[in-house]
Amino acid sequence: MYPAPVTVISPSPHGGPVLAAMLRVGIPAAPLPLAAARRSPAGWLDSDLVVCVWEPGAEPAVEGELFGQATGALHVAWDVDLAIVGPHVVAGLGPCPQCLAATAPVLGDPAGALPGAWAAASAALQVAGILAVGASDLVGASWLWRLRRPGLAVVEHRARRDCPVPGCVSHGGCG
Ligand SMILES: [Zn+2]
Repeated sequence: MYPAPVTVISPSPHGGPVLAAMLRVGIPAAPLPLAAARRSPAGWLDSDLVVCVWEPGAEPAVEGELFGQATGALHVAWDVDLAIVGPHVVAGLGPCPQCLAATAPVLGDPAGALPGAWAAASAALQVAGILAVGASDLVGASWLWRLRRPGLAVVEHRARRDCPVPGCVSHGGCG
């Protein structure tokens, strides 16, 4: 297993605020720089859970490899206005990365301190829950918080009709 049960793949070499939020509450997590994940996936594929610090679809090669290996991947991302936690991508339980990319918001630079703090803390809660019970309410769904329109929103992601990717289904396997 890559040094810890949870691997946080992030553009930040040290995992950034998401990893920090997890370590602060004792979640066994280790960082993997995105550049290293792009080069060599073999080292992290046997983690119990991977946290992807970008929106779904932004790194199709890495995401496709995780989906193909049935490694659960929780997305978390933010910019100056919007924070998104989820979906928890799991082959056989929810949409594939390509379907998610068609419905996910496109974010700007992760420069928002407040959206980043909310996203990091919420992701840590989700990860703790996934480790505790092995499931998540963010399969095929995301939490969104917008500074300009404050309040928690839930967005559902569905599989495209006739998606050819093995294991791609809408939430609940009804896709
Ligand atoms: Zn799909």
